[in-house]
Amino acid sequence: MNRNYVFASVIGFALLALVPVFTHNPYYIHLVETIMIYAILLFGLDIVVGYTGQVSLGHAGLFGIGAYTAGVLFLKVGAPFWVIVPASIAVTAVFGALLALPALRVSGPYLAMVTMAFGTIIQILINEMTFLTEGPMGLKIPKPAVAGYKFDEQSFYWVVTALLALSLLVVHRVLRSQLGRAFEALRGSPVASDCMGVSVYKYKVYAFVISAGFAGLAGCLYAYSEQYISPNTYNNELTVMFLLAVIMGGRKSRIGSMLGATIIVLLPKLLDDLEMFRMVASVLAVLMLIGAIIGVARKMTTAQTMAVPVVGTAALAVFAFWLDSITDWRLSIFGLMILFVVYYLQDGIVGFVRSLLSHRSRGAKTAHVAHAVDSHVDPIIRAAKNGGDDVLVAKEVLMQFGGLKAINQVDLRIKRGTIHGLIGPNGSGKSTMMNVLTGIYVPTAGSIEFEGRSVVGRTSSDIALSGIARTFQNVQLFGEMTALQNVQVGLHHTFHSNFVDVALNTSRYAQEDKSATARAEGLLAFVGLADLAEEQARNLPYGKQRLLEIARALALDPQLLLLDEPAAGLTAPDIKELVLIIRKIRDHGITVILIEHHMDMVMSICDTVSVLDFGQKIAEGQPADVQANEKVIEAYLGGTAT
Ligand code: ADP
Ligand code: MG
Repeated sequence: MNRNYVFASVIGFALLALVPVFTHNPYYIHLVETIMIYAILLFGLDIVVGYTGQVSLGHAGLFGIGAYTAGVLFLKVGAPFWVIVPASIAVTAVFGALLALPALRVSGPYLAMVTMAFGTIIQILINEMTFLTEGPMGLKIPKPAVAGYKFDEQSFYWVVTALLALSLLVVHRVLRSQLGRAFEALRGSPVASDCMGVSVYKYKVYAFVISAGFAGLAGCLYAYSEQYISPNTYNNELTVMFLLAVIMGGRKSRIGSMLGATIIVLLPKLLDDLEMFRMVASVLAVLMLIGAIIGVARKMTTAQTMAVPVVGTAALAVFAFWLDSITDWRLSIFGLMILFVVYYLQDGIVGFVRSLLSHRSRGAKTAHVAHAVDSHVDPIIRAAKNGGDDVLVAKEVLMQFGGLKAINQVDLRIKRGTIHGLIGPNGSGKSTMMNVLTGIYVPTAGSIEFEGRSVVGRTSSDIALSGIARTFQNVQLFGEMTALQNVQVGLHHTFHSNFVDVALNTSRYAQEDKSATARAEGLLAFVGLADLAEEQARNLPYGKQRLLEIARALALDPQLLLLDEPAAGLTAPDIKELVLIIRKIRDHGITVILIEHHMDMVMSICDTVSVLDFGQKIAEGQPADVQANEKVIEAYLGGTAT
């Protein structure tokens, strides 16, 4: 972790811990405690929403499960606090796996509906299972006692503070590890994740389970904090508030989660108190005006973009003084504020501040890139097996989409250690062939054997891990991740450390992380992207994105590398560079299948070329023979040769 962050966190938590010393007012202590409890839940929700990009409206339900696990275990079993906390986490985590099931099938609005239904069902169950939960009557739980010591308002506050700090540490470690990268990759491109050996199925469930664990901890602490729980707390309104908190605070940010928690706890209180509302609205308007003036003066933003927020906050302040009573307007003001934040600050408050700051520090960004490539033991590219046999044998492959035979009875034999060209007009089935080889499509008929083992019917991630890596015709990078992180996702298979290793930062994890980082840097250097390691993939020029995809694919230590039009969109000097790279890859013994339209490139580097037309193989052989083939000239080369 960055030194400054550690320092800021320590100061922040020290200040938090001092709250009960400065104020003895139990109302304020309880308010801050609630914010901290919500923040723990939001850390977890952010994993699902911010990182994997799934919607969850089921988190109030999970929160309820955590609270009721604690309540029931205390009242029915008399379990001690130190058993109840881990039990609440574990029970809720199991329900998290249940909530993940719909996410494996549906997404977007459908997922929102299904997860909301989950929350509703949980609430109904809590209400109906009176033998455990006392139904609408609710449960009363006293503050916990440990080893004879009974916690009071103040000391329990410190328990919550400590657990918030611990949660922050764990979530931070998980998200910066290979697990966090896997979650983020799902959002970037599920197809590419699978083809890099990161199973979308597995990591979606994993993300929901971890997320639910935090919700369970939060729920458990909430039960002890309120000392009374009843089913109607865990309703759909709360679940929407949680989601809003993540969006308003700023996704993919722990500060964002804490800010979001503060907003959803304090905003309703603020809207209860007219004097306070007037003051906050005025301060907000003045701050916005000052911010806009500075922003425009420094050319960080334009007067036009700032006009609406400035006028909006000013109008809010005027409105606040015009109002006589706030009660009738509460909900409308609340709704407007949310609309404003969601519309204007799409990356939340933290995202907005970040964008202002990054504006300033542009240019300094690429300074800290590691150049030390020679310093590690691991070879950057692992040599593949050698020998003259066939790596891949496909027989009579048929791929039918409705009535269209995109691939029609195609045989392919790919000799180990060669570059095998696959050419043909647009729509002839080349990309479909790659999708069939990598498990994205299951062929309608035919057999495919890779290294003597059938590929048909296996998942993409399983096939990838067995040694087939690929790039995509329309680039599939993890856009919000840096170039380095993209390659590190490809190195996911080199990690054997689990959640516990990551959370405890064990030497096994540290070792794996170190060597993966060094190899990722080496691979970036190999494709000439060392200087751009810290740049977000989506900000790279198109040609560089294609090279990055190759580096990421190599990270998988493949026996067979499939390149789908790697030179498309590249400039002439870049293509020369690419040819050198592909040759070097082959020299490491890695077999390459190359789909390409640049004929001079295909003819110069391929050992064998197969030609597809309307899904059928019409020719195969040495480049020169194929080039002279009548059928090929008629179908393809005559019109489109470059
Ligand atoms: P190429 O890569 O050679 O340009 P493709 O393999 O992308 O061609 O496409 C071959 C044919 O299969 C095209 O007619 C395309 O429209 C069709 N096709 C590819 N994928 C699908 C799909 N998922 N559903 C229906 N048709 C598809
Ligand atoms: Mg294609």
